[in-house]
Amino acid sequence: MARYLGASCRLCRREGSKLFLKGQRCFTDKCAVERKPYPPGSRGAAAKRGKLSEFGTQLREKQKVRRIYGMLEGQFRTFFEKATKVKGVTSEIFFRSLELRLDNTVYRMGFARSRNEARQLVRHNHILVNERRLNIPSAQLKVGDVVRVTEKSQTKVVFSEVKDVAAQRPPMAWCEVDHEKFIGKVIANPTREDIQIPVKERLIVELYSK
Ligand code: SF4
Repeated sequence: MARYLGASCRLCRREGSKLFLKGQRCFTDKCAVERKPYPPGSRGAAAKRGKLSEFGTQLREKQKVRRIYGMLEGQFRTFFEKATKVKGVTSEIFFRSLELRLDNTVYRMGFARSRNEARQLVRHNHILVNERRLNIPSAQLKVGDVVRVTEKSQTKVVFSEVKDVAAQRPPMAWCEVDHEKFIGKVIANPTREDIQIPVKERLIVELYSK
């Protein structure tokens, strides 16, 4: 599937907030949002972030979440539409389905430094779900699923680097992880409180409900 291949930091600067797309770099003073707190482009430094219309505010909020999860518009909207068909609060079901994507879960479990990296690892067959190879980043996990990095892959340099980073991650309430063995289990559905993403999901629901 086609994907945005430009500079990740431009996306953060466009949204005017840190979307944490680049792993550890996001926590250093090299972060582009901190160094250049204005929109990208030749007129970026001079451009002022004017007051947005109601539509503009909703759009920016949606773009933020879409970019955090690294999804294209069509797929993002499909996730939303599926969420509207499930009984319950749409925004909660929507966020839950985003969190339970395989690439996001690999990232949350600490087996990758960013969602981008997690997506690559899934695509390149480094990940097993319930002991079966699964290379579809958007695959939906459910409670009870066990995610593991293959034994052969664990010997690769990338995973020894990841291990140090993973150990610093706060534990997630909805999954339990053994970082030494690179194995994790989904033990509950993630709630909105578990998902530390500072967006107003109400605005996304309003935008897509038009
Ligand atoms: Fe965004 Fe991370 Fe780049 Fe900062 S370093 S602008 S948070 S991707």
